[in-house]
Amino acid sequence: MPTSDPRAQGQDALHRVRALLPTAPVTRFAPAPTGWLHLGHLVNAVWVWGIARAVGGRVLLRIEDHDGTRCRPEYVAGVHEDLDWLGLEPDDVVAPQSAREDAYRAGLDRLRSLGLAFGCRCSRREIAALAGDAPDLETPYPGTCRALGLPLGAGLGVRIRVEPGAERFDDLRLGREEQDPAVQCGDLLARDRGGHWTYQYCVVVDDRDQGVDLVIRGVDLLSSTGRQLRLARMLDRPVPPRFLHHPLIRHPGGTKLSKANRDTGLRDLRAAGHAPAALLGQAAALSGLLDRPRPLPAGELASLFTG
Ligand code: GLU
Repeated sequence: MPTSDPRAQGQDALHRVRALLPTAPVTRFAPAPTGWLHLGHLVNAVWVWGIARAVGGRVLLRIEDHDGTRCRPEYVAGVHEDLDWLGLEPDDVVAPQSAREDAYRAGLDRLRSLGLAFGCRCSRREIAALAGDAPDLETPYPGTCRALGLPLGAGLGVRIRVEPGAERFDDLRLGREEQDPAVQCGDLLARDRGGHWTYQYCVVVDDRDQGVDLVIRGVDLLSSTGRQLRLARMLDRPVPPRFLHHPLIRHPGGTKLSKANRDTGLRDLRAAGHAPAALLGQAAALSGLLDRPRPLPAGELASLFTG
């Protein structure tokens, strides 16, 4: 269960990681280079590096540039520079998603041979229109092309069949979770009509191939976990990773931080004279790991979890 006591929160998480992953875990920091890093990324980094360093685990840096239309090389360079400035050193830099076409194709070949993939001509807009008055809700794919036998060729999307059934997992912070991906999202889009692999698909193939057994990420991705567990099994990963979803920081009005918020961009904060340790301490406090901000050098992040 989540706790409001910052010390207990970090220590509980660590206790569960140790109990469930007796060998040193492999986790990852996996930003999408569609903008500059901001305080939200820093919160994630504090949890990722803090836990990894507390248990002798490894941190992979993975650039999630699956969506070539929105990613820019300067943002990739920015990730490396900002991590360097913060003193956050990954143990390994794995291949960016843009370099893993062969792996994604191989995964799709497997799914196709199992009869689990089908061509889909529906646009995002058509599916979103089904949401009617509730456009903020995720609209499950209604199965329009499921039985049409469309090819997996150019100009069509590729979807993976998702049958009804619950996925259960123990989140290392939130406890027992249960999700039915068929109800949440329906047949999963693996590649869109423009030929771009999707986040949901890439991340499962990557975590499998890169030996990631501990996924530490914000609670905004909690609803993705059931479908990723399902996909991992289809992609021949019988033992899935463990998941920890940490709190997000929000603006006082409750809105989520985004890359458009210049006030929280690391580059702007750095230009305004903030030191790395001050920002790390602030991120720790904003996500409930410290009572109040205090300077916290990267080398001391493990102390948030070990007490
Ligand atoms: N690339 C995702 C992001 O930018 C994170 C993916 C994940 O942790 O599963 O937030």
